[in-house]
Amino acid sequence: MDVSTLINPLNDAQRLAVSAPSQAMLVLAGAGSGKTRVLVHRIAWHIQINHIAPHNILAVTFTNKAAHEMRQRVEELLQMSARSMWIGTFHGLAHRLLRQHCKEARLPETFQVMDSDDQLRIIKRLLKNLQIDDTKWPPKMVQGFINGQKEEGIRARHMPGHGDFFYQQLLLVYKAYEELCDRSGLVDFAELLLRAHELLRDNPELLSFYKQRFQQVHVDEFQDTNTIQYAWLRLLTEGNNNLFVVGDDDQSIYGWRGAKIENIYQFRDHYPDHLMIRLEQNYRSTGTILKAANALIAHNDSRLGKELWTHAGEGQAIALYAAFNEQDEAYFVVEKIRQWVREGGSRRDIAILYRSNAQSRQFEERLMTTATPYRVYGGLRFFERMEIKNALAYLRLSANPLDDASFERVVNTPTRGIGTKTLDDMRILARDRSLSLWQAAEWMLHEALLPARAATALNNFLSLIKNIGIQNAQHEALYESVQHVIEASGLIELYKKEKQDKGETRVENLEELVNAARLFDFDTDNPDNLSDIDLFLTHAALEAGEMQGDADDDCVQLMTLHAAKGLEFKQVFMVGVEEGLFPSQQALDDPGRLQEERRLCYVGITRAMQQLTISYAESRRLYGKDSYPRPSRFLKEIPTELLEEIRLRAQVSRPASIAPTTQSYSQSRFRIGQMVRHEKFGEGVVLQSEGDGEQERVQINFRQAGIKWLMLAFAKLETL
Ligand code: ATP
Ligand code: MG
Repeated sequence: MDVSTLINPLNDAQRLAVSAPSQAMLVLAGAGSGKTRVLVHRIAWHIQINHIAPHNILAVTFTNKAAHEMRQRVEELLQMSARSMWIGTFHGLAHRLLRQHCKEARLPETFQVMDSDDQLRIIKRLLKNLQIDDTKWPPKMVQGFINGQKEEGIRARHMPGHGDFFYQQLLLVYKAYEELCDRSGLVDFAELLLRAHELLRDNPELLSFYKQRFQQVHVDEFQDTNTIQYAWLRLLTEGNNNLFVVGDDDQSIYGWRGAKIENIYQFRDHYPDHLMIRLEQNYRSTGTILKAANALIAHNDSRLGKELWTHAGEGQAIALYAAFNEQDEAYFVVEKIRQWVREGGSRRDIAILYRSNAQSRQFEERLMTTATPYRVYGGLRFFERMEIKNALAYLRLSANPLDDASFERVVNTPTRGIGTKTLDDMRILARDRSLSLWQAAEWMLHEALLPARAATALNNFLSLIKNIGIQNAQHEALYESVQHVIEASGLIELYKKEKQDKGETRVENLEELVNAARLFDFDTDNPDNLSDIDLFLTHAALEAGEMQGDADDDCVQLMTLHAAKGLEFKQVFMVGVEEGLFPSQQALDDPGRLQEERRLCYVGITRAMQQLTISYAESRRLYGKDSYPRPSRFLKEIPTELLEEIRLRAQVSRPASIAPTTQSYSQSRFRIGQMVRHEKFGEGVVLQSEGDGEQERVQINFRQAGIKWLMLAFAKLETL
């Protein structure tokens, strides 16, 4: 392989970045300018030209999917394996460090990662134990407080002891929470990062080992790193001047989760000898899309400032559609998608991007009705489904009996006669003696503190878990263990009893879990010889949102704007662009947040390669509430000459299969968008009508029954 493959597909500024001698570097550039491409080529350059072993390279990306792709691209460029390169998300890499050095990290070998749902449960329980009023200190707020402190590297013991009562109570929970997690070997997401930082900071030998090992450190999406992540990077690179970061201040969208744009400014101070490179040519989008993005983001202040340009032509105008309501919006978008596919386009090149996961349902329904294959990233994540979490909790508990969160989750799922009284006593005992629930249970049995029936039930439960553990140790394949868990736990029987569809789906999901275990790719990342179960459980906790996104099928892609960062699609639909939704309600009177929403909109627009379609609804039902939102201010920030409004009538009058005459609307008893009720189908909204008199037909989208055409002469419709 010669140098040209590494350098040829790059422009001058990109080449400069890729081939510069080892030094601290910041590539600061707008969307689609090739930052990620530069990062990949830079890594390949180090390996090929500077003869740095993959083993000596560290790269941090934002999702596991991105990490996976990055490794592949490096391997393609070099025509060799880059297995031993450390590449992953901050959380994934932190986890790996902690597993390898649990002793130094003061963690039990069996420690488990818990997701934010488990964390919330624990906090709820602590509030109850501590008799703290959860209306004044809502669990979610407490959770936000704890995570916020951790993201800044602050432990309870670092916080001042004095303060008002409100603060005192928060501090109390934080302390109790830390104790409980330590005792149960549980690590939340923020803790992974904090502890990985402390691990290196407090163990100079370990730190110097890793500093030597990681000769080159690379970070994509640097603008979204938080304080502790950046501190960790600094530890690893201090004095070596070998940190290479790429980012875009205009795409910083995780401020609400502690990300600091300031890290970019800080970088410039902390690495005074750094080389800064700007890329301004965009290779992704049409001129129109770029102009829209540039104009929008110009409304933010305190930007580092950059303007993108492209050699690509102007392309199509940005389509703008005002829908009657959310159903009409979905209808419109899906029709447009079908048209694109009919004309030979691929579904996988299309993305529907929304602000909030709850918006996906309308689109899913419509896509399902029209038999259009689709895939939702995130949303109701597979590993977050109740039945899956229950099954995993059995696995977790059998791997680590100290795991209180899992204990709580499954001790009575399915019910097995362990009463509330027994559980409460157990919790009190655990709290008073600093025991895990498991230890408290054993103690109660040992001291014969329980009435006979409760004792038997509890004993059976403990034996069940121990047995699962023994069986798992004997199984060769992970999926057999998973199979065994869902059978032995009684979960299958439990869900079989549940009503119809719901129970069936749950059973199917459990079967899918066995399948997921079977297909689980152990090779991807197991340099540390973790047990299969540990690997799988970590995967479930850390990669929850991404699993559904991996398949290569030809599917329309649905995801939140946040999840779309770094990706690109030929056709992008940015939907629900309304005040109160996008920008979100909370951002409306908060200038800082509003700017972050605008950056999110910039991210959304710049995902589009060929065509962008924006839609908003004039009435929307979301979270069970009706609203009549105004179009988003972001729309006014896009120059009108770039937009092409799709006229309502024009659109409704030429849907895919039926072409009603426009004239028929005026004669119809029904307004489009009107809510109606049908005896059998329930409530729905009128989408269109055609014909008149005896022949008049209306198409209605029923909440439950889906879309139907009805003859008015026969259908008894009541207007609402
Ligand atoms: P984002 O800010 O959205 O993460 P980015 O700056 O990381 O974007 P890339 O994803 O690396 O941009 O590149 C955008 C697109 O442009 C990709 O399809 C990439 O392959 C292409 N591209 C980048 N540089 C060049 C180049 N020099 N020649 C041709 N295509 C390029
Ligand atoms: Mg990128």
